[in-house]
Amino acid sequence: MTGIVKDPRYFNHEMGVYHVESPARLKTIYRALEEDKQLTSKLKIISPRLAQMEEILWIHEKNYYYLLESTQARERVILDPDTSTNPSSFQTARLAVGGVLEAARAIMEEEITNAFALVRPPGHHAEKARAMGFCLFNNVAIAAEYLKRSYSVDRIVIFDWDVHHGNGTQNAFYNRDDVLYFSVHQYPHYPGTGHWSEIGQGPGQGLTINCPLQGGKGDADYLYALERLLSPIIDTYQPQFFLVSAGFDPHQADPLSSMLLTAPGFA
Ligand SMILES: [Zn+2]
Repeated sequence: MTGIVKDPRYFNHEMGVYHVESPARLKTIYRALEEDKQLTSKLKIISPRLAQMEEILWIHEKNYYYLLESTQARERVILDPDTSTNPSSFQTARLAVGGVLEAARAIMEEEITNAFALVRPPGHHAEKARAMGFCLFNNVAIAAEYLKRSYSVDRIVIFDWDVHHGNGTQNAFYNRDDVLYFSVHQYPHYPGTGHWSEIGQGPGQGLTINCPLQGGKGDADYLYALERLLSPIIDTYQPQFFLVSAGFDPHQADPLSSMLLTAPGFA
């Protein structure tokens, strides 16, 4: 059975009425799920929890955690040109991390076989001590740490198909051999990282794999990259757990990038 992390508290974080990373993204999906009883009968709803400070500090610096915590007292704090907070953002970001952790736990406890975390804010641009590109805490990176620490999973793949390169996730594991980061993204594009020559360092050398693509690529191009590049890597690495940063912005209708993926292409 597939698990779905879903909670209306994810609507509480908002970065201004015109911001594209808005509660409406999740509201639309939640509504579609509620209308499709046949689909929801096959899903198990996973209730998120607030991630603990200790869990967040596996990836982030303490000063950064306190900075985000302090934003609760202010109407709006601008953290970077694209990223700001309202008084609920800190707790919502903790809940986003905790949602992914709960999904990972439920899979490891064999309550479900896989899961989709319908959470926000997103995380893959979040650096150790810096919010960036709509992201506050790096949900997927903290989940990888959680799997390693709580369940001794020692080979994890993070596949990041968001149209933007996940600089924060790449940096979190750049020197490590227990997490393989694979990203396919538009390049050159925001945030500027993700050149193919970024391959990891030290024990992590070869375990960061970037597949930068020029804009205008569609389903067949992505399929080619995954079959030729990702599949053989997975056959060799033999991951015990597979995490996906499932950004849907390579879709052809996304206004912020120029990829041409279709819904069947994602499927
Ligand atoms: Zn993106």
